[in-house]
Amino acid sequence: MKAIQVRKTGGPEVMELVDLPVPEPKANEAVVKLSASGVNFIDVYQREGRYKVALPFVLGQEGAGVVSAIGAGVTTVKNGDRVVWAGPLGSYAEYAAVPGDRLVPIPAGVSDQHGAAAMLQGMTAHYLSHTTYPLKRGETALVHAAAGGVGLLLTQMAHNIGARVIGTVSTEAKAKLAQEAGADEIIVYTQQDFEEETKRLTGGKGVDVVYDSVGKTTFEKGLNVLRPRGYMVLYGGSSGAVPPFDLIALSTKGSLFVTRPTLAHYTASREELIMRAGGVFDMIGAGKLKLRIEHTYPLADAQRAHRDLEGRKTTGKLLLIP
Ligand code: NDP
Repeated sequence: MKAIQVRKTGGPEVMELVDLPVPEPKANEAVVKLSASGVNFIDVYQREGRYKVALPFVLGQEGAGVVSAIGAGVTTVKNGDRVVWAGPLGSYAEYAAVPGDRLVPIPAGVSDQHGAAAMLQGMTAHYLSHTTYPLKRGETALVHAAAGGVGLLLTQMAHNIGARVIGTVSTEAKAKLAQEAGADEIIVYTQQDFEEETKRLTGGKGVDVVYDSVGKTTFEKGLNVLRPRGYMVLYGGSSGAVPPFDLIALSTKGSLFVTRPTLAHYTASREELIMRAGGVFDMIGAGKLKLRIEHTYPLADAQRAHRDLEGRKTTGKLLLIP
């Protein structure tokens, strides 16, 4: 089978299209024949070596397809089921072996491509807005990179809850998309100072929560736009990692909370995984969550997909098609 393998970490050029044997399912695993694989920023961190993975490895943490083989002990799915997953590595490939308890059936009426587009970024937006800081009607959230993959979904969920959303984006074209997703105000943070603008938009009161996936270039200013006892939810670092930080600033800036959550801990049990994926698929079924698949690339073009994602050229979801 074809797969995208990383043998040494580095730029997009280290992703190689290789031939590997189709995996055999071990106990408690199922093999999935992929029809779509999600591209996520975490793939970039792993390819670069910022997040450590034992070499060599097949990239990709999100896939959708049909179960083609079952190992001993798997009770969650059977051969022929349409399934999706987020987390276990190896989705940039024609086949992947995945622990059975991580596979989620794709509801009838949802395509494989939509399944792959919804899972990782959708469950992330879900836990951020419903669990890490459960937004309430009338509250205000600052969502950075609001036209990105997670950003567009988080903006829609926050809007549906009845919160006021202030979104940041880098271009006017992205501003339009974030607005369509339900952002009440947009700050083009490459042209305007988002700290000043957010203070102005909130009449100096500050926001209840900042959802920050950008990290290095936004974290510190984000602390300055929180209301006293507000929440900084730092969930990524697309611009780079946040440098070490003196905790006393949390006190002087208003008894603030900071958390650095990750999806794995919000889908750790099968029960929570099914609850969260179900929550996302229910929103899609009810027409309350629109997925934007911006681009599909052949598996062989994975390097191009990464260049586009890192180059801030993309909005919504990118998929690889094996
Ligand atoms: P996005 O589609 O959001 O792409 C990243 C976006 O970040 C860009 O489009 C860009 O938007 C913005 N950005 C700002 N500065 C930079 C920069 N210097 N270089 C590149 N991009 C920049 O990606 P995803 O939706 O896949 O992921 C978004 C973030 O969420 C990532 O940081 C990812 O790691 C994180 N994440 C965290 C999870 C968790 O559980 N903790 C789970 C899933 C994702 P703009 O041009 O508008 O600035």
